[in-house]
Amino acid sequence: MKVCVLPGDGIGPEIIAEAVRVLEALRSDGLKIEMEQALLGGGAVDATGTPYPEASQKLAREADAVLLGAVGGPKWDNLPRPQRPERGLLGIRKDLELFANLRPAILYPELVNASTLKPEVVAGLDILIVRELTGDIYFGEPRGIEQRDGQRVGWNTMIYSESEIRRIGKVAFEAARRRDKRVCSVDKMNVLETTQLWRDVMIELAADYPDVELSHMLVDNAAMQLVKAPKQFDVVVTGNMFGDILSDEASMLTGSIGMLPSASLDANNKGLYEPSHGSAPDIAGKGLANPLATILSAAMMLRYSFDNEAAAQRVETAVKKVLAQGLRTGDIWEEGTRRVGTREMGDAVLAAL
Ligand code: NAD
Repeated sequence: MKVCVLPGDGIGPEIIAEAVRVLEALRSDGLKIEMEQALLGGGAVDATGTPYPEASQKLAREADAVLLGAVGGPKWDNLPRPQRPERGLLGIRKDLELFANLRPAILYPELVNASTLKPEVVAGLDILIVRELTGDIYFGEPRGIEQRDGQRVGWNTMIYSESEIRRIGKVAFEAARRRDKRVCSVDKMNVLETTQLWRDVMIELAADYPDVELSHMLVDNAAMQLVKAPKQFDVVVTGNMFGDILSDEASMLTGSIGMLPSASLDANNKGLYEPSHGSAPDIAGKGLANPLATILSAAMMLRYSFDNEAAAQRVETAVKKVLAQGLRTGDIWEEGTRRVGTREMGDAVLAAL
């Protein structure tokens, strides 16, 4: 498997270095993996004038998977829009046709105090939000702002075709098969025709997955249930806009941004794997960043693009061990635990592997 590694900006290079060390350790144990680095984001703008240069495009397209740190920082905030680092991120997602975003929200028992919710509500949380990423009202046409009857009106189009719904549904059902075999599809079918179709297609699709239990929930109720009783969910699948909101809500249940991985997949399980957090310019270059979200993103890559569940679990188990040993980077530190930096955390994961 060929992996394109894009460290990016800010803490990106520091956290990617630790994930790469973990993958190298697995390679020395027989994992067949080749890694090559390229530029994305602000560093790419500095070097080439564009955030997603051609050399990076070529490498990303040819690779089987992409591992990304994070992009952006104050240095590039005032550039014209096409040159902003975030454009590089949107560019690569579009270029690789990544339509499925997978964001697990896992709360390790050792980190239960990081959540703002009561321990009995969140301890042991392990849910996966599957969000459609390339359709819905965010991309629907026509759209715009115009003058009508002497005032401005703004409008957008919420639209999904059944093939778009079916392919994201498949990702959710397949993911559920690797987990607790339950999918909750979130819609607003009482008001929106688009999501009536969404529900109809999910029900049709469920016939292909008799081993997976399908349930449905309206999005307003889902928002409430996620904070009231989040452990009731296994896999949640929803459209782009609802998923945007619910995936952020779900990730915050855990309280620790430095722990959350993510995956964005295409139709062939080629994926882009990255931590859910940004480039953290406030701590960049100081060796303080938590590398675990990136290491766990590499584990997701092993699971979804390499189809190597054993290797994925080996990395995840190593991370759990390190937490159980009481090691914490600053973002997850609490009284009674040992504060370590990026490198030392990486060393501990390697030792636990
Ligand atoms: P951020 O996620 O970078 O940081 C928010 C807070 O969390 C900061 O205090 C930071 O120090 C902390 N934090 C984040 N990751 C951490 C880690 N691994 N270990 C320890 N602490 C961590 O969000 P922000 O400050 O809003 O954005 C900073 C820059 O990142 C901006 O330029 C933004 O555009 C960019 N950004 C990039 C991505 C991405 O590349 N996918 C996502 C979000 C933001």
